[in-house]
Amino acid sequence: MQFKAFLLLTATATMAAVNEPCVGSGGRAGVCISTTNCASAGGVSISGACPSDASNIKCCTKASCANGSAGNCRWSSDCAGTSVANKCPGPSQMKCCSSSASGFGGYSAPAFPAVGACKSVAVEGAKKVVAAWKGRVRQIYCTRDCACPGTSDHCCGKAIDFMCSDGGGVPTSSGRQIAEWVMNNRGTLNLKYVIWGQRIWNPSVDGVKAWTSWRAMEDRGDITQNHWDHVHVSFK
Ligand SMILES: [Zn+2]
Repeated sequence: MQFKAFLLLTATATMAAVNEPCVGSGGRAGVCISTTNCASAGGVSISGACPSDASNIKCCTKASCANGSAGNCRWSSDCAGTSVANKCPGPSQMKCCSSSASGFGGYSAPAFPAVGACKSVAVEGAKKVVAAWKGRVRQIYCTRDCACPGTSDHCCGKAIDFMCSDGGGVPTSSGRQIAEWVMNNRGTLNLKYVIWGQRIWNPSVDGVKAWTSWRAMEDRGDITQNHWDHVHVSFK
């Protein structure tokens, strides 16, 4: 996997993230799109859930989409039933799911990196997260080809990316629970900070709170760089 982004520790001005996930009406999985496109797809828009987007970009959900009685629109990685395309607002990965049940994960256990270039604190942390979230982590990345100290904790083998959707660049809502668990287990994990869904939480400056209240980060331009397909964890 290629990572083009440099890790920025400070949250800067937040910008639009059109076609990316959001938490919409009723806590449902939503997508940030124009209110016009939402309405034409039969969806419902709410304000304030697509941080600092242009005024016409709002979080759109569709609770009923005629794919079985429980049919609702969600990210294809998160559907426990069958998905049908072209019934939902947003990009092609928003599909009409036949089931109200969560389809998070179901992945085989990922391989862990050896301790070495990837430091012990990161490997041990990765094992704890995966043990707590069986089937939810598809793949793990630790080191990156960059000099230590560098622009990312990956350069020093002290960060783990927990890939938690069906593929790189494929959005999911699954990472929120994992990221909040990491926050709540910051002591045993030796947590430096955690990032999920364009938001960052750092125990040295942030109080314990729901992910929706974590500090917003700038738009880095795509699903992976905005952390909608993986949870990034940096260790001390
Ligand atoms: Zn990372």
